[in-house]
This record gives sequence, C-alpha cells and structure tokens, in this order.
Amino acid sequence: MDDLLQNLNDQQKCAVTSPHPTLQVLAPPGSGKTKTLTARVAYLISKQGYKPWNIIVCTFTVKAAREMKERIRGIVGEELEKKLQLGTFHSIGRRFLVSYGHLIGIKKGFGIADSSDTKAIVKRIHKRLRSPLEAGKIASRISRAKAKKKRPAEFHGSKKIEEQDFARIYEEYEATLASSNLLDYDDILLRCVELLHNHPECVANVEAVLIDEFQDTNIVQYELMMLFAQHRQRITIVGDPDQSIYSFRSAEIENLNRMTKDLKDTLSIHLEQNYRSSAAILRCASKVIQQDANRIKKPLTATHCLGQRPVLRKLPSATDEAAWIVTEIKRIKTLAGSLFHHDDFAILLRSSALSLKIETALGKAGIPYRMVGGFRFFDRKEVRVLLDYLRVINQPNHNDALARVINEPPRKIGEATLRELLEEAENKKVSLWSLVFAIAQCRGNVRTKVSASALKGMQSFVNIILTCQSKIKRESDEIFSLVNLIGTIIDKIEFRSFLQKRGAGKDEGEDFEARWANVEELLAQATEISAIDALGLEFPDEDLLEQMETGPSPLEETLAQFLSNVALSSNAELKDADGEATKQVTISTLHGAKGLEWPVVFIAGVYDGSIPHSRADDTDEERRLLYVGMTRAQSLLYLSCPLNSSRESDSEHAVSPFLAVPELEPYCLQQGPSISMAIIEDLARILRRDCPSDRTVIDGALALERIEDDLYPLDGSRLGYQAMSWE
Ligand code: ATP
Ligand code: MG
Repeated sequence: MDDLLQNLNDQQKCAVTSPHPTLQVLAPPGSGKTKTLTARVAYLISKQGYKPWNIIVCTFTVKAAREMKERIRGIVGEELEKKLQLGTFHSIGRRFLVSYGHLIGIKKGFGIADSSDTKAIVKRIHKRLRSPLEAGKIASRISRAKAKKKRPAEFHGSKKIEEQDFARIYEEYEATLASSNLLDYDDILLRCVELLHNHPECVANVEAVLIDEFQDTNIVQYELMMLFAQHRQRITIVGDPDQSIYSFRSAEIENLNRMTKDLKDTLSIHLEQNYRSSAAILRCASKVIQQDANRIKKPLTATHCLGQRPVLRKLPSATDEAAWIVTEIKRIKTLAGSLFHHDDFAILLRSSALSLKIETALGKAGIPYRMVGGFRFFDRKEVRVLLDYLRVINQPNHNDALARVINEPPRKIGEATLRELLEEAENKKVSLWSLVFAIAQCRGNVRTKVSASALKGMQSFVNIILTCQSKIKRESDEIFSLVNLIGTIIDKIEFRSFLQKRGAGKDEGEDFEARWANVEELLAQATEISAIDALGLEFPDEDLLEQMETGPSPLEETLAQFLSNVALSSNAELKDADGEATKQVTISTLHGAKGLEWPVVFIAGVYDGSIPHSRADDTDEERRLLYVGMTRAQSLLYLSCPLNSSRESDSEHAVSPFLAVPELEPYCLQQGPSISMAIIEDLARILRRDCPSDRTVIDGALALERIEDDLYPLDGSRLGYQAMSWE
C-alpha cells in the first residue's frame, strides 16, 4: 500500500484512494494526472479487490498503456494484468465487437479500413458518380457525420442539392464497407455503442472505468464511456481543457460539463504542482496559453528550479533550421554526453511534411532517430505492400488492398486493365477478387479483355494468395506463425531482389538498406504480437460468445488481430520503442507528443501558417497545440522559425503570432544559450529526480512559483537565489 502511494502528493493520494464513485481530475500539464490514474488502477485491484478484467482503462498512448501495465504486473502478476481491459477507445471497442459483434449482425473476421483505405474508397465513388463535390474533403465529412451519428438518409432529406450529392457518396461508401466486411474507425465506436446499448449484459460485470486525456473525447466516446459504466457508474476521468487539441476529430470539450450534469455526484480534485518542467519553461508556456481570454484559469506551481529560458531562434531557411538543431544536439552531447543521451531529445513538428530536412540533417550527422506519432511506419511503401498482401489473405474482398498489390511487384497488369476490372466488379456487384479469380481460372463470363501476359500475372498472384491462405487454415499440416507467413510472401514475390533492383543506382544501396530495415522491423513486430496479450475478452457471460469450432484458426485470428492493431495504431496510438538497444532522438508531430515528456525538446517550424496552420479554423486550438508541445520539455526548450521554407523561396515567414507578443519576450532568448557544464548538470540532476511531495527545497534552488499569478519577477530575487544567465 505504502509502496503504491509513494511519491504522490496529498491531492494525488486523495484521487487514488477516494471511495467516491465518480471522480474528475482536471489539472495542468505535468501535474501527475496519468501517474495518478495508473496508481488508482493498481489501488483498485490490489486494495479494493477489483478484478482486472472488470476494469476498463482508456489511455491515449501505448507508452501510458505500457507503464500502467508494468506497474500493475508488479502488483498482481502477469496473468491478471493481461486481463485488464486497457487501450484506446478504438482498441477496446474492437475487442467488444470481436467477442459480441454477432449479437448486432457484425460478421466474424471483420477488417478495419484505415484512413488511406477510406480515402481510396471515397475517391473511387466520387469518380464513378462524377460528383461535383470537392473530393478531398468528403472522407472527413463522412467521419464528422458519423461522429454526430448522422446517417445518409438525413442528408438525402435535405433541400440542398449539395447535401444530396454528399448523401449519395456516403451511402455508397457504407455499402462498399459492408460488402468488404470492413469497419472504419468511426464504425468501431458507433457499432460498439449500438452493441452496449442493446446488450447491456455485455458489460454487466464492469466495476470501474478510467479515462486519460478526457478533454479529447468526442460525443461517441463519451457515450461509450457511459455505456461501459452503465451498471455501476464508477468513472474516473483525468484531463486538461488547455490541452484539448482534437476538435478536428470531433472531440468535444463540452463533455466535461456534460459529465458533471449527467453524474450529479462527481467529486472534483485539482492538482496544481508541475513535476515535469523547469519554472522558466512553464512560465513561457503559460504566457502562451494565457493569450486565450476565454479559458478558465488554473493555478500552476513549479516544483523545479527556474532553469534556463527557452530559446526562440529565427533561421534563414528550413535547411539552416535543421542544421542548427543538429548542431545544438551535438553541442549538448559534447558538453554533457554522460547526462543527456539521444533518447532525451525530441523534435516536435506541426506536420509530418516538415520532417524531411530534419531527417536528412540527422542522418548526415549520424544521429540515430525514430519517427513516432503521426509518422506512419506502416505507411512506408515496402511495409504497406506486405501489409496489403496480408490484408488480401485475411480478406480477399478487400478491393483496395488487392488493387494496390495485384501489380506489385509488376506482373504486367496495367493501370487501364485494373481500372476496367474495378469497374466491372462494381457493376456486377462482386468483389475484385472473385473477378480476378474467375479470370485466372479462365472461367465465367468476364467482359474485361486481358492480355496473355496479364493473365499469367493474375494467375501467379491468385496462386500466391491461395497458397498462403491454405497455410494458415486450421487443417494446415504445417505449424505456421505470422512471421512465417510474411516470410512466405517475401519469398513468393521475390521481394528482396525486387527492392534491391529498385534501389539500384541510388547512393550505394542506401535506399535498399533502409527499406529492408523496415521489412525487418515489420517482422519483429509480427513476432511481438504473439507475445503480447491475447485480445480474447474474459467477460463472464460465456453464453454470449459464439461457438468457435467453425470459426477462424488461431493464426487467422492472430493475422486479423495484427492487421487491426496496425490500423488502430496508425489512428492514434504512438508506437514506442522503449528499451531499444540504440538510444534515438524522437521526431514526432505535436499531436503525437501528447502526454509524453523529454528532457530536451525542439519545436521546429514555429511560423505563422504552420502554427497556427493556414488551414486551421480554430486559432485557440492551434495555440493549445503549441502549449502542449512546450509543456513536454523538462529542462531545455528550443523554438525555431525558418524565415523561408527553402533557400530559393522568396516569401518570408513571420514567427508564430503566439510567440510574437511583447509579454513573452522577457521569457525567451533570441539566441542559443551558452551552455556551461555546471548548468546542464544541475538541470539534469534536478529534473531527473522525482520531486519530493512535500516540496522541500532541493539544493536551495526550488522555485515555488505560482505561474498563473506571475507573482515573482524573472530574476527570482524574491526566491532568494540568483537567476542563471544564458548569455
Ligand atoms: P500531461 O497533462 O502532459 O499528460 P500529466 O498531468 O499526466 O501530464 P504525468 O505525466 O502523470 O503528468 O506526470 C508528469 C511527470 O511528473 C512524470 O514524470 C511523473 O512521474 C512526475 N510526477 C508526477 N507526480 C509526481 C510526484 N508527486 N512526485 C514526483 N514526481 C511526480
Ligand atoms: Mg498525462
């Protein structure tokens, strides 16, 4: 018990142990919300006797999920920890649908359409219907309609021609998903709501529901939370309205008020001490968020020393910016290599499009890095090809996956032929696979003319798919794993030599090496899947579970699960490579960095048009996004702005208006700091140490500052110690 509550302050302890059924913890960044939530889960299991499989925990990142799991494993053992229902809303929703989806007519073995599938489907329908609507916006419009639970019929009924056009696409889109037995991200949540609404018995034994990052839940997720908890209404949520950054995905900050209204007896607990960042970083970040006149002020106290003022640096171009970041990383490493390792650095970007120059500069300098949160490993071409093969093997009706790989590697099936095939399949209302299969077998009444070489190509493709399918079936003689399956595909399509040939002529095969490394990473992930928790729910009512005898084989299940994980991880979760042998600098989007922290953070591309983004409607949300980024930093924060996107470009960027305010100036440095070893060591030592909960003075330099009220002058004189200077 004491162990559990160690390193928690009084309010945190109160939140962990409160017997109150519904708890709301709203608090600023770094105040220990996630830490508190983790401790509460452990407390409920070890002290209150809750069964892990009756606790649902929605976390935002894999890292949070992992930390929580590790902690709980230490207390209750691996067996029980595995049964905890822990993950994103989507992954938990999917588990319910896998186990109980048949109750609402969902077919077994459904797949998940990820965002590129969704876009491809919409694009095809858009073209076929010759829709006048702007193609690029339709997928997200469908998603918004779904998040608001609007069906196509509602748009059909509209008087506006434009809405009727939209309804037609929306309707066809739904029909396409249904015929391929696919659910999109929104469906997973919506169908789960439908399931739990009509079959409350599925959650009869749920004892507690805990949600991290509550400010970013949308209406459907809120409803799902209430449905999870419908029998006992024991809900704990933690969140921070100042960090709400997902309204573009229909997140509703209103959910906070809704919860207070729906659950009258909610206990609110406030945390106000920040244990993450230096006081200087916090003060600078606070100056940014305070520009939002409508926000509710919250007290925020720094527990760490003043530290170093964040650096705001203008560079002539994005190339110079990348070079400068690399120089700074090298400089800090040279001065304090034993204190700061590469994995202590993060480079955060507004959009993935900005990453190329930084990747190149890091690569040239030989600094290892990894891309997370929004940089989609699974979208790399060579990975995507193998995944698409797996998708077709798992679900031959997945038209889009099939269309992407039937000629990959090239099998002389030209684009025109493929287009005709797709059209014919659509007209006949059959899947592309059935059509290709019929052609390969030289059977059936097929209209599309295919050349002899294309026919051969199709036959070879069909053979590969059939061979792989037979290997994973229950009755297969061979003992086959997912890794074997991927290996078989690689062999059959001669992928290695194909990649080698494609890489030929490029810088000494560098291209091939990098691509092959990705293939190996995919194999490593496929190995991991058998090791991680089986997703089979241990929900108690066995009668509800369909008999599995005629169901998929274990490998078919694993394959489906693997593909679902891939689809869901590219949605929101952050792949985390903790424990990797080489320590790497992290490159992430600002969105993907939510909830995480690093000793040194660079936010690059902080210019008007990037933050706020030129296409963003909600300036306040853009400001919150910058605030989220800044509050990830523990000891050093760098903000940089390239004045031109490229050296050739002549339109000059201005620094983000969120930073170009006079109030901020005293809190930022224009030039990089002149780092002394003493400063860095000091920062690292203080920031790495868990702050004592009684906030006793550490080394005489603890800044007990009320940031929000800005009670203290910058030089820290009221605190009785000298401010450190950078220059
Ligand atoms: P965010 O809003 O960014 O998600 P958070 O409120 O969830 O932040 P945590 O990530 O839980 O904050 O905690 C921030 C850091 O502070 C972590 O490193 C955590 O271990 C540390 N921390 C939290 N509470 C305490 C405490 N009482 N004593 C010492 N360290 C703490
Ligand atoms: Mg958190």
